[in-house]
Amino acid sequence: MLNKVLIANRGEIAVRIVRACQELGIRTVAAFSEADRDSLAVRLADEAVCIGPAAPAKSYLNTPALISAALITGCDGIHPGYGFLSENPYFAEICAECKLTFIGPSAETIRLMGDKSIGRQTMRAAGVPIIPGSEGELQSVEEAVDLARQIGYPVLLKPSAGGGGRGMRVANDESELIRAFSTARAEAEGAFGRGDLILEKYLPKVRHVEIQVLADAYGHAIHLGERDCSAQRRHQKILEEAPSPVVTPEVRARMGADALRGIQSIGYLNAGTLEFLMDPDGNYYFIEMNTRIQVEHPVTELVTDTDLLRWQLRIASGERLTLQQNDIRIARHAVECRINAEDPERDFLPAGGEIEFYLPPGGPGVRVDSHLYAGYNPPGSYDSLLAKIITFGDTRDDALNRMRRALHECIITGVKTTIPFQLHLIDDPAFRAGNISTGYVAELLQRWK
Ligand code: ADP
Repeated sequence: MLNKVLIANRGEIAVRIVRACQELGIRTVAAFSEADRDSLAVRLADEAVCIGPAAPAKSYLNTPALISAALITGCDGIHPGYGFLSENPYFAEICAECKLTFIGPSAETIRLMGDKSIGRQTMRAAGVPIIPGSEGELQSVEEAVDLARQIGYPVLLKPSAGGGGRGMRVANDESELIRAFSTARAEAEGAFGRGDLILEKYLPKVRHVEIQVLADAYGHAIHLGERDCSAQRRHQKILEEAPSPVVTPEVRARMGADALRGIQSIGYLNAGTLEFLMDPDGNYYFIEMNTRIQVEHPVTELVTDTDLLRWQLRIASGERLTLQQNDIRIARHAVECRINAEDPERDFLPAGGEIEFYLPPGGPGVRVDSHLYAGYNPPGSYDSLLAKIITFGDTRDDALNRMRRALHECIITGVKTTIPFQLHLIDDPAFRAGNISTGYVAELLQRWK
């Protein structure tokens, strides 16, 4: 088993990693920026090392500082969490060169899947359905126009190196496509350092359904069913659930088998997620793979009774994945709300400030993953996630009614939060009926205002 792990992250996921390590008897070192001196992970970890100023480029993205912190404190592993360096192949490579176990897949795998164009081709070769679109990166605007003629409008331009829903552009006709092409390229260049684009058919009424996988170093892999993340605002998830209200056991088995074929074709290691879009007829198409733990992992943990973080650590330690596919049963329903420090009444404007009072919800069927405490002042340099409230129950209604109760119970004063909108969403009739697509939250917000 790993002996001591450096946590190259912050916020709630750093706390989640500390907890998993402590349960396995692994010592922890929290890497923190100057702005995170008072963070909960720093208090909970066995040791803590300052890795630089608040700006991510100088701290959580600062590879030399992180590697030195790990070596100086005698760590043998690094957990990258999500975001920051978690999907950076160079970081994984440098960890390996420094004899530090990167808790995730190999640098080569991260490189393959970090590129949407290569990801599409790889999955297609493994027989996983993909959205009609470009074979590789688009070489020219003419190529984009030709392709769009073949597959039909609307089409979507996506940065090949993209993430976080940024830089995507829909084009409804040829003139829009021609105009969007250069802007999208420049945007991608600015945001991701690479202007390469891919083109996909834009599917207007789809759900976002993703499959969680786990794979060990001995060729054994399983899937843990799906999460439905169709409740999105500007391509950012705000509520996730498992199982999906529209996925039948038969479709789950098919998607799971596709996901496993896909990851086995690249010798995948550790936890990962394959994201799909699903149309109203139940057809699904791979869009991308995330080679890290995801924000919404708790819903899968709760419905399958597994601990994904502990499995990440055990697999990275060289243990065998002892779970078999038959052990995975979807035992209940779980929902997660991402509670952000944003004002939903003012277009989700960031609304930070010192947390005056904090009372997380409790009682049966409630889990809270958070780094909050009263008196904490979340630094403005990072994302606005304050807490994840996760509820579960025997049925979807049960889990959602618990969520209503938990959101009412939760007290966070000193900042505005997304809770008022999430309360509205969970009692919306279309959402309750399980009848929404990824564009629905935008519609609901129009009416709510
Ligand atoms: P990112 O890596 O930036 O998050 P993704 O490829 O994962 O980008 O897509 C993010 C979201 O954008 C999806 O959840 C979905 O809502 C929407 N999206 C992506 N591709 C398409 C498509 N071809 N048609 C319709 N919506 C799409």
